[in-house]
Amino acid sequence: MPEYDVIIIGGGHNGLVAACYLARAGLKTLVLEQREIVGGAAVTEEIHPGFRCSTLSHSAAPFFPRIIKDLQLDRSGLEFITPQARVFAPASDGRSICIYDDSIQTIHELEKISIKDAKSYSEFERSFSRIGRVLAPLLTMAPPAIEHPTPGELWNLGKLGRSFRRLGRKDAYRLLRWGPMAVADLVAEFFETETLRALVAARGIFGAFAGPWSAGTSTGLLWQAAMDGNAIGPAAFVKGGMGALSEALASAARNAGVVIRTGAIVERIEASEERAAKVLLRSGEEIEARAIVSNADPRTTLLKMVDPGFLDPGFLTKMRNYRATGVSAKINLALSDMPSFREVEGDEARTRLSGRIHIGPDIDYLEHAYDAAKYGDYSRQPYLDITIPSVLDPTLAPAGAQVMSIYVQYAPYVLKEGDWTSRREEFADNVIDVLSSYAPNLKELILARQVITPLDLEETYGMSGGHIHHGEQSLDQFFTFRPLIGWAQYRTPIKGLYLCGAGTHPGGGVTGLPGANAAREIIKDFKTGKA
Ligand SMILES: Cc1cc2nc3c(=O)[nH]c(=O)nc-3n(C[C@H](O)[C@H](O)[C@H](O)COP(=O)(O)OP(=O)(O)OC[C@H]3O[C@@H](n4cnc5c(N)ncnc54)[C@H](O)[C@@H]3O)c2cc1C
Repeated sequence: MPEYDVIIIGGGHNGLVAACYLARAGLKTLVLEQREIVGGAAVTEEIHPGFRCSTLSHSAAPFFPRIIKDLQLDRSGLEFITPQARVFAPASDGRSICIYDDSIQTIHELEKISIKDAKSYSEFERSFSRIGRVLAPLLTMAPPAIEHPTPGELWNLGKLGRSFRRLGRKDAYRLLRWGPMAVADLVAEFFETETLRALVAARGIFGAFAGPWSAGTSTGLLWQAAMDGNAIGPAAFVKGGMGALSEALASAARNAGVVIRTGAIVERIEASEERAAKVLLRSGEEIEARAIVSNADPRTTLLKMVDPGFLDPGFLTKMRNYRATGVSAKINLALSDMPSFREVEGDEARTRLSGRIHIGPDIDYLEHAYDAAKYGDYSRQPYLDITIPSVLDPTLAPAGAQVMSIYVQYAPYVLKEGDWTSRREEFADNVIDVLSSYAPNLKELILARQVITPLDLEETYGMSGGHIHHGEQSLDQFFTFRPLIGWAQYRTPIKGLYLCGAGTHPGGGVTGLPGANAAREIIKDFKTGKA
């Protein structure tokens, strides 16, 4: 008998969530993480002596509350910080906007800019919240098998149909109509202020090889609403950075009996008699298990780790067509002091800058930013999603100093001219120049900077194509299509081999849901002897 029931390849947050549930179900579980720290894209690292930053993702999507409860993560010291401001968007015409966690405060803010938008915002929020409630059950279910749904799946879909009917005609119509729409069209139906339109639309294009005028980008807003009842996007930080969440998960996993090994690079998944049997590490070590679960992305797992001889040519073609070309980069700064943004001063500045800061003042700006990526170049005027987490979390920087986390889009994985190694610094200089036009004292405060290109996302963090969500989250790679139609239930064509990362339903973001859903299916297979 193999030493382990389950080997999980990758200690990203989803791999750790899956490990916790599997171990709690009595399965002897081993996690193999290639890096020296667990967490994948949810990590905190020192970027300069005394300055710690959420290196990649900076706000939870939000992390699913039931997982926190099930795994008792608060016992490991996990603490979320919810800033008063969800997102602040400086505008080029001086009409900056702040969306607060509190709707009334947001409406007062919007009234100063447009009475029409203040009224529409309430309607927008209410409608997305109602629709989000209907969609929410989809997040925790394995997408149904389209060709041969089980009675249980049909029952769940029936329940969903009933709540859809209860939505009422207006919202039901909106739900059906919005999904395939370009997010630029959707926001134009609600709002007249360009900055508000752009700020809301940004949720639809976050991490996507798409611009606000691309069809289907409204789906991102619907999904966000399903996650937290709000289409605007999260501003929930983890005290100590995102790595503290991963550490809490690792600690819960160890307490449940999981063995976690870091610095363990899995090269291959070996199969025998058409089932996954063991993993082969770069060190030459072989480890056997009854089931192998990959937290690595689908392309890495199925095109690089598995011998193609074990997969049907039709499946391989579909997998090769699975789109995972990233457009995101990250720049993290150690700052000697708080940067000042134009038009925000004093105490008000600390509040307004405590959540996410959106740079992308209008829809045209965002679309032009995307244009660059289409033609193989990085955006000269990029869309930026920024946080300064040390404003509310002093554990991240020395007293008075700050860390700034800058998510940059668009930075396409493939550049037409040159490569990311030669263009890294020029790219980062451009981002700092753009940001300095909003925060004029920024440059003089920079003590150190860390630049992470899409190539780094692939080479250091193991994300194929540098895609932050392990693959596009477009309608053709969504729900029953994630990662491929017929294989959306965390299983793969190789018996005993499963996926549990962001390339599975319900996709990317730090939610823990793919890991939890995958674990449930794997436990089912162990109970019925199918694993
Ligand atoms: C720059 C950036 C910014 C983001 N911003 C946000 C944000 O603000 N909010 C949000 O909610 N989401 C954000 N995301 C997305 C989110 O972080 C990811 O979707 C999510 O963390 C994916 O989690 P995961 O566990 O599925 O995969 P990962 O975190 O990618 O974990 C996979 C793990 O597998 C390991 N691995 C891969 N190959 C091997 C191998 N051969 N052997 C052993 N181990 C291996 C990797 O090292 C990694 O630890 C961002 C992502 C990036 C990259």
